[in-house]
Amino acid sequence: MINQNNDSTILTLNEQLLLDQISTLGNIGHEGSNKGRTRIALSDDEKLGRDQIVSWMKELDLDIQIDPIGNIFGTLNSNNQENQPLMMGSHIDTVKNAGALDGCYGVLSGLAVIRAFKDAQMLPSRPITVVAFTNEEGVRYQPDMMGSLVYAKGLELKTALATVGTDGTILKDELERIEYYGTFDSSKLIPFKYLELHIEQGPVLDSDKKEIGVVENLQGISWQKITIEGKANHAGTTPTRLRHDAGLAASLINVFVRDIALTTGTTLATIGALELEPNVINVIPNKVTFSLDIRDPNEQKLLDAEEKVKEYLRKLEIQEKVKISSQSLARFKPVQFDEKLASDIQESCDKLGFSNQRITSGAGHDAQMISRIAPSAMIFVPSRDGISHNPKEYTPDEQLIKGAKILLDVVLKHTK
Ligand SMILES: [Zn+2]
Repeated sequence: MINQNNDSTILTLNEQLLLDQISTLGNIGHEGSNKGRTRIALSDDEKLGRDQIVSWMKELDLDIQIDPIGNIFGTLNSNNQENQPLMMGSHIDTVKNAGALDGCYGVLSGLAVIRAFKDAQMLPSRPITVVAFTNEEGVRYQPDMMGSLVYAKGLELKTALATVGTDGTILKDELERIEYYGTFDSSKLIPFKYLELHIEQGPVLDSDKKEIGVVENLQGISWQKITIEGKANHAGTTPTRLRHDAGLAASLINVFVRDIALTTGTTLATIGALELEPNVINVIPNKVTFSLDIRDPNEQKLLDAEEKVKEYLRKLEIQEKVKISSQSLARFKPVQFDEKLASDIQESCDKLGFSNQRITSGAGHDAQMISRIAPSAMIFVPSRDGISHNPKEYTPDEQLIKGAKILLDVVLKHTK
């Protein structure tokens, strides 16, 4: 007998199966102890991961669709098929030597939620879709978050398919080779709402000892490449007042952006890559090239930081007698997630008695792309010491289960 009146008290997660699936998927592409797993998008190992997800979707009798960018959609149908689906998802591609949780946890928890419906023989009031987006990590093909970006119409399919990888391969050829160049028109499947469960990949929840992060926004990102040209000269014979020291100017910029970060309290600024020329102990550097990564959850503050840096570069040119140029490499506005959906998540945490706090996502996620086409929000669980993109990435099992329980509860709220 099919029950249409959902009651969260009779829906239960198969917790052990969820944990087992995380470990099974985590073993695909695994490179031995102390190393992580590597499933770079559209590689042979990632194909094996995809095949595993599809076979689990089949076990759940889902309606499986693959679109031309290789996104995998598995849908549990409802009696009200005309309703837009509630969508949950993330990605299963990884960086090199990755942990087992990033992305995979969200996709597999989505399957666990659907399994709870199946086990209770319940039909949701609207279809429920689990999606695994293609190439979230952007290791081999840029940009990252590509599958969700194409799906949300932020990048043309044609352009994405023509992307040349770091290994010289064409993305479409690789999709065809691994047999995930699908024909499904995913623009017909626009979600009613989108939820993404993910590990935090940062230290905030772990250090604040909170069980769940209710993600309300996601930082905007500004990437620049800055080049400073000075004059190489002898370190022993050139008086300080006569120098054109490109290295010194770079150091001053690093201190300047740290001051911006400390003043605003929300801005983060990083010079992560830096090259000195000639890079010799007794020569004043004549050229420095470096990256500048600035982030803030508030667009105005991000714009202000960019403007302050620009002014400072002009000032430094005169002060240090150097030439400075900058080039924008990437710019994403901050994302505000759906407030209603965020408060639904918080309500579920309070109801189930899980400690929680509002949080900003420091990393990019597929949910930020989907928020262009549907109300979206994210649920975070703590990452021990904030470590991710690393085999040491770890979240205790009971925390993983708590995150999945919140996902189930929020899904239920919208499918009754
Ligand atoms: Zn991820």
